[in-house]
Amino acid sequence: MKGNYIGGQWLDGVRAVPNVNPSDLRDVIGEFAQADAAQAREAVAAAYAAAPVWGQSTPQQRFDVLDRVGAELLARTQELGDLLAREEGKTLPEAIGEVTRAGQIFKFFAGEALRLRGDLLPSVRPGITVEVTREPLGVVTLITPWNFPIAIPAWKIAPALAFGNSVVFKPAELVPASAWALAEILSRSGLPSGAFNLVMGRGAEVGAALTEDPRVAGVSFTGSQTTGRRIAQSCAAHGIKFQLEMGGKNPLIVLDDADLSVAVNCAVQGAYYSTGQRCTATSRLIVTDGIHDRFVAAVVERLTQLKVGDARSPGVDIGPVVDERQLAIDMGYVASAKADAATLAFGGEHRQHDDQGRPGFFLTPALFTDTHAEMRINREEVFGPVATVLRARDLEQALALANDTAFGLSSGICTTSLRHASQFKRHAQAGMVMVNTPTAGADYHVPFGGRKASSMGAREQGSYASEFYTTVKTAYTAA
Ligand code: ADP
Repeated sequence: MKGNYIGGQWLDGVRAVPNVNPSDLRDVIGEFAQADAAQAREAVAAAYAAAPVWGQSTPQQRFDVLDRVGAELLARTQELGDLLAREEGKTLPEAIGEVTRAGQIFKFFAGEALRLRGDLLPSVRPGITVEVTREPLGVVTLITPWNFPIAIPAWKIAPALAFGNSVVFKPAELVPASAWALAEILSRSGLPSGAFNLVMGRGAEVGAALTEDPRVAGVSFTGSQTTGRRIAQSCAAHGIKFQLEMGGKNPLIVLDDADLSVAVNCAVQGAYYSTGQRCTATSRLIVTDGIHDRFVAAVVERLTQLKVGDARSPGVDIGPVVDERQLAIDMGYVASAKADAATLAFGGEHRQHDDQGRPGFFLTPALFTDTHAEMRINREEVFGPVATVLRARDLEQALALANDTAFGLSSGICTTSLRHASQFKRHAQAGMVMVNTPTAGADYHVPFGGRKASSMGAREQGSYASEFYTTVKTAYTAA
């Protein structure tokens, strides 16, 4: 059994649970410990004890630790990518790409540890100077979802440590293997005991304990809207700073003047790769009348060529859905779109086996046409390989449809007109806007995050990460 990591020790949990490969349900990756609330509090205590130690480390020490972790991740992309594909179900190239990204993030935040700066200003009063500096928060709880089992932990753990915080990391129940592998690397990175802790376990039990402990100063969460709102309430009640990344219902506008092959690539890549299990996935394709039929035909043609199957087999484009529960959710949305009289232009079929007879959670990419903004399929996040097409008259109507959602994470357009692109960038209500590039796929050195129901609190990633992971001190000196 692989254990939790608390105060520099590997510990058994209160139970062990199997981690099953969604591409082949006969394949058990391993048994992983689950903590209870009491063990979660032990991790907080360890992090609390280590906070002054790591909080006073030098930028060079922080750089060295993070740089070492980044280098090891980059040296092991193949092996860790294979593990990630096996437990989460994204394809091997996608999984290797994700591990590479995690390595790059650690390297970037190694540099950020050296670059943290403040301000020096004259006071409005004579003989006084003012310094503005940033200090660590203290203990931060990091709660992550299953869809990016190593990149999302990396983009929370790396800045948390770079800015001198101690960490309690609670990964999603479905993906303990990638989290454990990352924790194992961190355990050898030169951190003081307790500066980094891993507690695996159930959200309602372990996650909840980690968001109501008065020794916790900050919570960074990525996951569902329901859980995010619950965490916001708990943090507000306990005076804990929080940062939440929740879902999306991301639109991609395709205008008559778009390059058809660019538009099809953006749509297919954005909506269906990583099995559509990305908060930045395209779920609504908003297409103007003049290109609508050609675009739909070309997307369907591409979908017929995509191979759905075992995440680690060569030539597979779309891996399985992550688990039975998510599959049932996806199939429920397919049924609801059909019931609302949307036209199923392609896919939406559950297959119990891949072409080699492996039992898994396979779902062919689904495209619905003739849909309307009010349909449930266009209002709620699916989190699977399911997209819809909505018709629009012109850019103005397309923009109105794009913004007609509770969410505001990512929003895209395919157009060859600079005027249309500029108008879209100005008026799209989203944290990230994409022109001629898929709604999913962000860089790590610039801010990531959304508006409306998608996000709360400071942005993640890039130099903006210091907004969340530090607290500002204003010092006045009369001399
Ligand atoms: P999903 O539906 O994609 O699993 P969740 O929001 O339920 O998304 O899960 C995201 C993360 O939040 C997971 O690590 C999960 O264990 C955790 N979590 C779930 N419920 C709670 C809770 N009540 N308090 C804190 N964390 C939670």
